[in-house]
Amino acid sequence: MRFADLPWDPEVVVGWRRLVAEGRHPVLLVVGEDATPVSIAFIQAWLCQSLEEGDACGRCQSCQYIRRGMSHPDLEVVFPLTSALEKEMQKEGVPAPVAHWQKLFRQYSHGFVPPDLWLTYITQGGGMPVLPANRLRQFLQSVHRLPVVGSYVVGWIWQAQLLGTSGNILLKLLEEPPAHLRIILTASTLSPILPTIRSRTLIVSVPPLSSERVMTYLTTGLRYRVEEVAKVIPWCAGSVTRAVRLLEPEVRQAYSLAREGWELLADESSASWWRWLQAVEQAPRPIQQSIPEWWLLFLRKWMEDEPKAPMHNGGSPAILMYRLVDRLHRAQTALRHHIPSAIVLYLVLRELQQWLPVGWRSVPASSSGALS
Ligand SMILES: [Zn+2]
Repeated sequence: MRFADLPWDPEVVVGWRRLVAEGRHPVLLVVGEDATPVSIAFIQAWLCQSLEEGDACGRCQSCQYIRRGMSHPDLEVVFPLTSALEKEMQKEGVPAPVAHWQKLFRQYSHGFVPPDLWLTYITQGGGMPVLPANRLRQFLQSVHRLPVVGSYVVGWIWQAQLLGTSGNILLKLLEEPPAHLRIILTASTLSPILPTIRSRTLIVSVPPLSSERVMTYLTTGLRYRVEEVAKVIPWCAGSVTRAVRLLEPEVRQAYSLAREGWELLADESSASWWRWLQAVEQAPRPIQQSIPEWWLLFLRKWMEDEPKAPMHNGGSPAILMYRLVDRLHRAQTALRHHIPSAIVLYLVLRELQQWLPVGWRSVPASSSGALS
């Protein structure tokens, strides 16, 4: 992935290339839904043996290493794991999580790798995704070695929003990295990252793209069909990563299920509501987990498009939201023994509370009890 291949405005890309060419900032925090391809462009440029005005040449040995799945002798990566998978990492040879991670990056060779695919993979046997403290300590040790191919060793923390307080392990390194080291932290959002980390990095915000640019990139750059892309454009919020994800068949199945449930919210018949919940119960877990996100997208889009319009049944947006929360709360209480749906609904409730006007924030606190 070269900067020249990215779909952003030339003025934006020139700024990123200048950062590499000037070489004054050894620690970057790249933030945004599309932060991964931009991070890869930085990594490839830093490792390139024949830099061209701040961009990788695309031809040298280093560039080929990167193209073959983010495996380079001078690249050290830390990505999220669960505690069970962290044990796998101690094994000899190429540990299974590393092989799977590289496969994912080869599969999405354009760099717009949906992080949820990785998070779903690592959590399928249970457990929480974290950037394990042990891995960060090993990272500290390994980045002090000297480069063997190019001028720099590059350390990459992927999904840095999951660092939590373990991020403190990195503070000294971020403060004074050795001269041969470049560090890049990639995060989908900034808010979970400790201020102590933020203040030691140069933050590179990756802006959302216009719908036209997403369309052009997906249809001419990645060769998707115009009719297919047109369907997902309203839901991708200017992110190619999200659009790429939405274009996958199982995501389309999730969309249909989420949409069906959403349409039912204004329906007074509890029979159809319960039928839908049963369908959710039978759906694969990743699909269940995606429903809250879909509903939030629907809610946001609907509020943007028609903030004052009455609903088709004559209700107002506030009434719909009230119904939504009330219905979810009742369903959640009834489903307390059906954990997957209860989790889905609990997450939706929690997220929705942020969207409700102050007077509506009265979802009973005990609703979280269904999970405890
Ligand atoms: Zn190169």
